[in-house]
Amino acid sequence: MQNKSIAQLAADLRLRTYSSVELTKHYLERIKRLDPALNSFITLAEESALAAAERADQALKAGDAGPLTGIPIAHKDIFCTKGLRTSCGSRMLDNFVAPYDATVVEKLAAAGAVVLGKTNMDEFAMGSSNETSYYGPVRNPWNQDLVPGGSSGGSAAAVAARLCAAATATDTGGSIRQPAALCGITGIKPTYGRCSRWGMIAFASSLDQAGVMARSAADAAFMLDEMAGFDRRDSTSADVPVPDYVDALDDDIKGLRIGLPKEYFGEGLDPHVARAVQEAIDEYQRLGAEVVDISLPNSPLSVPVYYVVAPAECSSNLARFDGVRYGHRCDDPKDLEDLYKRSRAEGFGAEVQRRIMIGTYVLSAGYYDAYYLKAQKIRQLIADDFKRAFEQVDVIMGPTSPTTAFPLGAKMDDPVAMYLNDIYTIATNLAGLPGMSIPVAPVEGMPVGLQIIGNYFEEARLLNVAHRLQHATHWHQAAPEGFE
Ligand code: GLN
Repeated sequence: MQNKSIAQLAADLRLRTYSSVELTKHYLERIKRLDPALNSFITLAEESALAAAERADQALKAGDAGPLTGIPIAHKDIFCTKGLRTSCGSRMLDNFVAPYDATVVEKLAAAGAVVLGKTNMDEFAMGSSNETSYYGPVRNPWNQDLVPGGSSGGSAAAVAARLCAAATATDTGGSIRQPAALCGITGIKPTYGRCSRWGMIAFASSLDQAGVMARSAADAAFMLDEMAGFDRRDSTSADVPVPDYVDALDDDIKGLRIGLPKEYFGEGLDPHVARAVQEAIDEYQRLGAEVVDISLPNSPLSVPVYYVVAPAECSSNLARFDGVRYGHRCDDPKDLEDLYKRSRAEGFGAEVQRRIMIGTYVLSAGYYDAYYLKAQKIRQLIADDFKRAFEQVDVIMGPTSPTTAFPLGAKMDDPVAMYLNDIYTIATNLAGLPGMSIPVAPVEGMPVGLQIIGNYFEEARLLNVAHRLQHATHWHQAAPEGFE
């Protein structure tokens, strides 16, 4: 059952080949048996999952079911879930049970999806390896000595290991695409504002976007169909009509113009990864696409710009965690200042503290113009590069990550080396564009991701372009040994 697509599962549920309760029990059993080796879940929601599955079975019986009714999924532990702990990977929120559901959670529940649990993640989504989690690192199902990527490493590993049919995730600078690439699955980060951020714990509000981790573009389309759309509770939510993503999957891609930015194929890119990406692009040409060489001249500045803007926004967003209203509170505070200081020092891990300090610094009087304002100006130039590129091409392709998965611990002492993992993904967030990662030919048994970037609100085209490749090749069907 765990290898079936969402469409196949939905068809089986309709035919009563098995019930949603049986399917849910099957996944729960897999999680209990296989996840101790991976640590991809922080919280299991066995009881509520079975109750939701029972409701789904009733709906199926009544003939009142949509494509996600009864399908077992997982949520990244950054989405607030009513009555179920939402830790955001942090000691700060280890005891936090949200009194409400995030919009994305609410929408998927309304669509009948069954929530198996909450997935592990880098603390407050800060990281590229899932090693900054308070709950310990996640391991890559393809090789457990290697990282799964981050920050949505739990969702990526759980989907790759077939512990759920699909999962939600978030992407501020690459956290959907990079772990999708390193774990060999399909991930889509929609246009900024496409999915509501309401109830999604904020890291960097002008960059954060919810999206999907799945085993194929078709599965991702079923999820995104339910998740996307305007939400008046999120002031940056986009009031733009949502097309049917599943309907667009089979559209012809003859004549598709693919832009290859020279900056994405230069120094720092592992030559084996480059070759695997090229092989996929050759396949696109066989499918009738044309390749156009383009340039995104300001993209090398995206990492430094991001590491000013994201920490600045996080230093402001994380000010709310003060030990007063919710979250971790230190024992026996002497006075209010001691309460703030010790609650925050104990509740936040090293990477989160580093970001808060950098963010506070770049926003401080005297440095604001030199760092924050300058970064915002370059951010505009980065967005303008894409605007020019999309006058010539329909999509942009390149590698998602410069290398395959690296060993646990390899970059934990070198934050800059860690930050450079996102060199190809960050510009997309700075510009607010949609991006995807899909698996291509592996390198020495480890997955490689092809990144596909689209113009604003062109998620349907991204999913279509990804689906056409997955229709023609088998790369996305490979399963890690022991998790087949
Ligand atoms: N790795 C990047 C960071 O640490 C991106 C994280 C993300 O997209 N949430 O900020």
